[in-house]
Amino acid sequence: MNWLSYAVTLIPGDGIGPELAAAARQVLEATSIGFEWDVQVAGEATIASEGTPLPDRVIESIRANGVAIKGPITTPIGSGFRSVNVGLRQALELYANVRPARTMQGVETRYEDVDLIIVRENTEDLYAGIEHRVGPDAAESIKIITRAASQRIARYAFEYAVNNGRRKVTAVHKANIMKLSDGLFLESCQQVAAGYAGRVEFEDRIVDNMCMQLVQKPELYDVLVLPNLYGDIVSDLAAGLVGGLGVAPGANIGEKAAVFEPVHGSAPKYAGLNKANPTALILSGALMLRHLGETDAADAVETAVRGVIAEGTTVTYDLGGSAGTREFGEAVAARIGTLG
Ligand code: NAD
Repeated sequence: MNWLSYAVTLIPGDGIGPELAAAARQVLEATSIGFEWDVQVAGEATIASEGTPLPDRVIESIRANGVAIKGPITTPIGSGFRSVNVGLRQALELYANVRPARTMQGVETRYEDVDLIIVRENTEDLYAGIEHRVGPDAAESIKIITRAASQRIARYAFEYAVNNGRRKVTAVHKANIMKLSDGLFLESCQQVAAGYAGRVEFEDRIVDNMCMQLVQKPELYDVLVLPNLYGDIVSDLAAGLVGGLGVAPGANIGEKAAVFEPVHGSAPKYAGLNKANPTALILSGALMLRHLGETDAADAVETAVRGVIAEGTTVTYDLGGSAGTREFGEAVAARIGTLG
């Protein structure tokens, strides 16, 4: 056990979330790092008990601890409650959503050597959900893009590239059609890119072309920076390139707090069945360790996950196996114990 112990907010989430959170917790506790878990329930359960899926105590806990790991939370369609995920990102100004997509031995895919980092702007764009009905038969959704948020996310992408030895940043947009909003996003990226000339290559792609390029030659791309909605969609596409949602981790980063969560949702049909793959949440935990500066522990978690998946005997249904969520978590935790 490390002498240092981190206070971390743990939000188990809805659907498959609590099972995944239990597995991730077991794996993180198998590293040399100490954790004081501040478990905060949010989502469907607190709608009934506290009248909201996102009680203030959850936000206060993350503010106090500075870091959280979170299972997926169901967003009821058409009800009065807004998404907890969007609410958290906005309340804590978690402006950068970082989603790595990397091929793993043992995960069957159509591609080899995919190693993408999706950097998605997390606070504005159509995804902010500012919309209203215009009479009975029309609705309007407002897309807001600002220079400040666009430059901030571009700067994050370039700094990520510099600090992680990446060679290229590609800005993704639809500035040919949305000349003002996406035009401003592209212009902001170009302005930031000028400051990194000679250190990090910069290019841009129109989002529809980007999707085609990613399924044809994903190995040509490195760090992608996108406005919120395109980032949401393209990161699922990228998850599909490397084996699906079960293996795709994510991080929401702000100046004062960071929340680590998988790309996938609460998959209600698998809830309570000990079936879903906890890899994405476990790898989100590795991203959290890296964020905390615990590089050796992060490497250990990633190595153990890759080892268990490559071996292929204790993997979940989505990777062609029959192991349960719990058994996979136990196998990864045990493997961490065997690493030097
Ligand atoms: P989903 O990601 O929950 O599930 C889609 C399908 O992907 C599942 O049916 C399953 O086949 C597969 N899948 C997802 N996670 C998996 C895992 N860990 N292991 C194995 N297979 C897995 O997407 P959905 O059905 O569109 O959304 C369900 C709910 O989750 C919705 O209420 C949605 O709003 C919410 N959601 C939450 C988050 C979040 O908390 N960050 C993200 C996305 C969706």
